[in-house]
Amino acid sequence: MRTAFLYVYVFLMLALGTTSFMAYRSHKKIGKSVSLLNFALIPPVLGNFIVTSSTSYLWAFVGYYIYFIGMNGVLFSLIRFTERYCKNDSSQKHIAPRIMYVLFVLDSIQLALNTYFGHAFSVEGITVERMPYFRVVPYIGLTLHRLLDYSSLAGVILIFVLTSYRMPRVYKASYVTMLCTMAAAGLWQGVYIFLRIPVDRSMIGLAIFGLLVFFFALYYYPFRLLDRMLTGLTSEISEAVFVFDPNGNCIWINKIGRLLINDDSTSLENVKDELFDMFGDIMSGSDKENFIRTTGEGENERFFSIEKNTLRDDRSKLLGTAYRVYDYTQEHLAVKKQMYAATHDALTGLYTKEHLFATINERLIRDTDTSYLIAFVDIKNFKIVNDIFGKEFGDKALCIVADKIKENARGKFIYGRIAGDTFGVCLPKQDLDIEKTEAELARFAVKDGSLEYGLLVHIGIYEVKDVDMEVSVMFDRAHLSLSRIKDNYKTHIAIYDDEIRNDVMWRQRISTQLNEAIRTKQIRPYLQPIVDRDGKIVGAEALARWIHPENGFMSPASFIPVFEDNGMIVEVDRHMWRCACETLVSWRDKLPDMFISVNISPKDFYFTDVVSEINGIVNEYGVEPSKLRIEITETVMMTDIDEKMRILEEFRRLGFIVEMDDFGSGYSSLNMLKDMPVDVLKIDMKFLEKSKDDEKAQKIVKNIINLSEDLGIASLTEGVETEDQYGALSRMGCELFQGYYFAKPMAVDDFEAMAAR
Ligand code: C2E
Ligand code: CA
Ligand code: CA
Repeated sequence: MRTAFLYVYVFLMLALGTTSFMAYRSHKKIGKSVSLLNFALIPPVLGNFIVTSSTSYLWAFVGYYIYFIGMNGVLFSLIRFTERYCKNDSSQKHIAPRIMYVLFVLDSIQLALNTYFGHAFSVEGITVERMPYFRVVPYIGLTLHRLLDYSSLAGVILIFVLTSYRMPRVYKASYVTMLCTMAAAGLWQGVYIFLRIPVDRSMIGLAIFGLLVFFFALYYYPFRLLDRMLTGLTSEISEAVFVFDPNGNCIWINKIGRLLINDDSTSLENVKDELFDMFGDIMSGSDKENFIRTTGEGENERFFSIEKNTLRDDRSKLLGTAYRVYDYTQEHLAVKKQMYAATHDALTGLYTKEHLFATINERLIRDTDTSYLIAFVDIKNFKIVNDIFGKEFGDKALCIVADKIKENARGKFIYGRIAGDTFGVCLPKQDLDIEKTEAELARFAVKDGSLEYGLLVHIGIYEVKDVDMEVSVMFDRAHLSLSRIKDNYKTHIAIYDDEIRNDVMWRQRISTQLNEAIRTKQIRPYLQPIVDRDGKIVGAEALARWIHPENGFMSPASFIPVFEDNGMIVEVDRHMWRCACETLVSWRDKLPDMFISVNISPKDFYFTDVVSEINGIVNEYGVEPSKLRIEITETVMMTDIDEKMRILEEFRRLGFIVEMDDFGSGYSSLNMLKDMPVDVLKIDMKFLEKSKDDEKAQKIVKNIINLSEDLGIASLTEGVETEDQYGALSRMGCELFQGYYFAKPMAVDDFEAMAAR
């Protein structure tokens, strides 16, 4: 029996040693104090071992010394452990242990001094189980020692009681278990002491406590805690969570899950069927899968994403399946709304240009059996509608046009708003009814209450031939065909054809040839004489001509408008100004008093600083500014009038003579004339041609001449073709004349010959 205990002691010492070592190596903070505790438990166990195995007083003494003093070490390390293990706030400082440590040291000294004074204990030989055993006989010293140890133990137990009380339920288990073992070991020892049972085996209890501490402090993990925390977390997340066991029975569902399947019972029995009813089969298939499901219709339509996760253990045995169901209806609707906003025009609700083009492109590629037309719809007088009746009425007009297009489309056409007042339509060729549409457009008007205004809507049509062509190009062509309509009030529809196509090609061709034409002087000025009342040539107007290597002689009417459209007119004019200066330089001796008038296109004002440009050229050639007259058409003065006045003023300040060209053909009133900083008024005879009433026309011209005379502006009449006109205008007081009656525009050499006569 006794040998059995010796084995137990040896086993415990080994176990304590091992756990102490393991705890020391542990990464946990508590590891060091666990290690110390288990290490400290070894000496008392050793002491007991020695006592149990001793056959002499001396060895028994040695065993008891080790046991008692070792117990101080045990309690010291127990307090240290408790201090760390039961502390809830690491910043707290404990003063009590310090005093205890001192007491332990003092007690150990006191016990050791027993060798000299014999005040603590002695040993008496007795027979236990028919074998000799050395029992301790306690005196005052040992009683003090026991008092100290017991009160420390009681203190530790108290701390454990308080801590386990304070701790959440899940943690309690480990505290309570340690507490109970500690109390049991203490009691066990107490029983030996107070009942004076000869052989004390209570160290076994303490050693077991040490091993339990090792397990609970370092390895025990409260699974229920994890369980609860995870359950808590999943209950609160915004996804519905369903967990199924390997047999496909629902074992758990969170709050959102309940809401989702609309089942407020506590039973889990129907969950599987309810999920199936909502989403169909999401159970079969692979371990990890995502499903997208929609439920309901119209207003009630909802969108779900479902994530299936199957859990398997190390040997890939099925543990269960979890489903996370997320209702992304809100996000979906938000995206849809954004998409709508991006693809639809806010005002009319029609497709935006980009979306229209993309949709048409798709249709053309998909349906190659049908011939399609591309229609460019333009409200010609929209600016006027907007200016006169206001933006609100303008918006209304746009909506009316949009509605009209929608109505005609009958779901078969693709249509959208291209820009401000232009719309685009793609329709099957067979659905175009030109007569009907013309009739509709002829009496098309916006009404708003009592207000009514006729809308002038033009439609350019292009027939799709090649579906690979960019839709924007198709619309460009449809748009180009509108130029065909021009001022014809009866037609509203134009169809793109070869003529327009050729015109476009022509424009492109001459545009690419322009630089070369300027460089080689294919483009050059022709001069048309300007004469005074005596018929004497006083100057000339430089008019552009293009002597083209293939097309021959080209009048400005064929190319000037093209370059005005694309802005290249600046190049032409700059060239003309230079040529005029060159000519003036060459005239310094032969025709010193002669001036040349040059034209300035309205577009020049957009693209360059005409004053510094022309002044620069004049300076470069050393030409006197008054010799180069500046012709500005009155339409220039229609926009940015203050800025234009400033420019004309500047020209005059620099010594140029400014002529107002084509006066009377535009909108300017005679009233405006008095504020115009011009020196010469060029009256356009052409505007008189239309009127049959000669007398009335003459009156107008006479009035203009008189008025300009009063304002100190010289008058020049152009387009004089007959002697009669010349005579009449002279009598009216006109000072200068230009026209076929005197001469047509001619090459510079011819002009020089004529002027020298
Ligand atoms: P414009 O500046 O009004 O030039 C006068 C036009 O009237 C010239 O036509 C001239 O040939 C024509 N003309 C002169 N006398 C008579 C006449 O008795 N009867 C008729 N029926 N016509 C007459 P052209 O040379 O064909 O020029 C047409 C227009 O092209 C010019 O009108 C001008 O606006 C523009 N243009 C010509 N050269 C240039 C240029 O170098 N630069 C700019 N920007 N425009 C130019
Ligand atoms: Ca002119
Ligand atoms: Ca003119």
